[in-house]
Amino acid sequence: MIPSVLPTYNRAPLQFEKGEGSWLIERDGRRFLDLGSGIAVNVLGHAAPELVEVLTEQAGKLWHVSNLYQIPNQQRLADLLVEHSFADTVFFTNSGTEAAELAVKMARKYWYEKGAPERVEIITFDGCFHGRSSAAIAASGSEKMTKGFGPILEGFVHLPWGDMEALKAAVTDTTAAIMLEPIQGEGGIRPLPDDQMKAIRALCDETGTLLILDEVQCGIGRSGRFFAHEWAGITPDILMSAKGIGGGFPLGAVLATEEAASGMTAGTHGSTYGGNPLGCAVGAKVVEIVGDPAFLDGVNARAGLFRQKLEGLVDAHPEVFEEVRGQGLIMGLKCKAPNTDVVKAGYDALVITVPAADNVIRLLPPLNISEDEIAEAVTRLDAAASAVEAAIHSSSD
Ligand SMILES: *Cc1c(COP(=O)(O)O)cnc(C)c1O
Repeated sequence: MIPSVLPTYNRAPLQFEKGEGSWLIERDGRRFLDLGSGIAVNVLGHAAPELVEVLTEQAGKLWHVSNLYQIPNQQRLADLLVEHSFADTVFFTNSGTEAAELAVKMARKYWYEKGAPERVEIITFDGCFHGRSSAAIAASGSEKMTKGFGPILEGFVHLPWGDMEALKAAVTDTTAAIMLEPIQGEGGIRPLPDDQMKAIRALCDETGTLLILDEVQCGIGRSGRFFAHEWAGITPDILMSAKGIGGGFPLGAVLATEEAASGMTAGTHGSTYGGNPLGCAVGAKVVEIVGDPAFLDGVNARAGLFRQKLEGLVDAHPEVFEEVRGQGLIMGLKCKAPNTDVVKAGYDALVITVPAADNVIRLLPPLNISEDEIAEAVTRLDAAASAVEAAIHSSSD
């Protein structure tokens, strides 16, 4: 008999009842150190007092109206995002997938309105992840995500990650946009080097192609900058945000320049819940806190410490780990042992990590994790790695 919850996930036998900062408390009382943050979501940790305060205050006033009316919290969050980024304008969604949908629509509509309706193609890269809607799985192109779901939305071109020659050859007079994650998340914490980010921006400028950056996972302070593309000194035309922006409340956004957004006039897009007063109250608080340069300095300092300890961990367990990847607090350990074994051993050692493609485990802690917690996390990862090693040795006996 089918479970009453549609079984599209393989769930671990863990049931968390409470969260406190970087900690998750299982119903049996065990305290897990959370290096997953609900997949890069809880940027300020669990039940962050600042967020609980704004959420409960707004909950007592007004939850939802609809975008037929003015929503001051939405306006305020949009102003904050414009202030902290390249963007001139913002549309709010409830998720990253919905942000991907709009990014694709916006890029195509731009060219349509410019009198070049043939420019519909979106170039994407191996290992990318933009969500699970029909457009987002077409963007990914991988068989794992698209197989069996009928006709795939047309107009996506898939290229090897980081192959600049292939990219140059692929941009034609039917290309609308290039879409990529500055640091691939699901793909295995694979950052694109700054010089390639710059070269892609230059290619877009030469050809008029729009640059869409998916910062759903790597944005909102996670890389040590407010948005990860800032490290390369470039700006996109369109950017997708979600995950961390709501600090745990479902919220997403598409940020764009005035030019890139010029096709999206009244009536061309909409959302019932997108930009609702509750979500935007929380989002504005997140952006206020994470957008503070002093907070981002702290993220980089903690990330430096964490990375140094992880390098030591990799050196100490050459049978289990291969290398440390990532930037800021979006980090990955490329594994030699099966990554799912390492994640499981982590559960036994009371530390939560998240698997990714390319045999990587992701470390995406709350951005305000303390130095003591980082030390404790590495102690627990060390215990997990030792258990994996012991299992390797006992199975080879
Ligand atoms: C998670 C993710 C998405 C999809 O976001 P949802 O909120 O799950 O719809 C899109 N892009 C990237 C890079 C992501 O990590």
